[in-house]
Amino acid sequence: MKTAIRLFATAILLGVLGVIVWRLPVNGWGSLVWVASIVLLTVLRMPHARQTKTNTITDKHAVSLERVLLALVAIGGTFVPLIHLATGFFAFANYRLPDWAVIVGAAILVPAYWLFWRSHADLGLNWSVTTELRAQHDLVTSGVYERIRHPMYAAIWLIFLVQPLFIHNWIAGLSGPLAFAVMYFVRVPYEEVMMRERFGEAYDAYCKRSGRLFPR
Ligand code: SAH
Repeated sequence: MKTAIRLFATAILLGVLGVIVWRLPVNGWGSLVWVASIVLLTVLRMPHARQTKTNTITDKHAVSLERVLLALVAIGGTFVPLIHLATGFFAFANYRLPDWAVIVGAAILVPAYWLFWRSHADLGLNWSVTTELRAQHDLVTSGVYERIRHPMYAAIWLIFLVQPLFIHNWIAGLSGPLAFAVMYFVRVPYEEVMMRERFGEAYDAYCKRSGRLFPR
């Protein structure tokens, strides 16, 4: 049953991607860069999602709220842009940007994806897509975590902030950064409370020498 659902979802996704390629003259080539970026984000995460399964989850926080936040980011960061690019549903809210906007966006994606990749590598088996603690949970304070507490969110901020440079539409371009803004500002406070409860003074000391998104 699961395989059938997966095959069905993959077929639909491939169909949508086909339509997006076909509508390239309408959407502009930034749409393809955006699709490539979302595919890269998913592919980069896959091995980490598989690896972390070996480290049992012991402590889940704000489960229902997390579901809402993740759904919001999936809708704003993926579904709304996909629907618009495939159907032109929000075409009434289109704007035009010159080609260099797409080049600037693509250039920003390079350090963003480096940071995204490094933060997954540095967190290792401690990583979770939601706010939770694992059986063998270490406080990571080295690598890209040395001076920034949320390098993964910094990377995701960049990835979503350039969405309007690729998708020239007030709704489908801004839905990603707006959805992530809600997730970031709602989640970070209780993620930090959770870390402080588990790691105590070590986390307080880490907070003193690091910034949330920018190095201290
Ligand atoms: N907020 C971090 C991590 C995002 S992944 C970032 O933006 O880089 C979310 C999970 O990572 C949280 O549920 C928490 O369990 C874990 N986590 C966050 N910071 C951590 C740290 N410094 N060391 C170990 N685990 C951490």
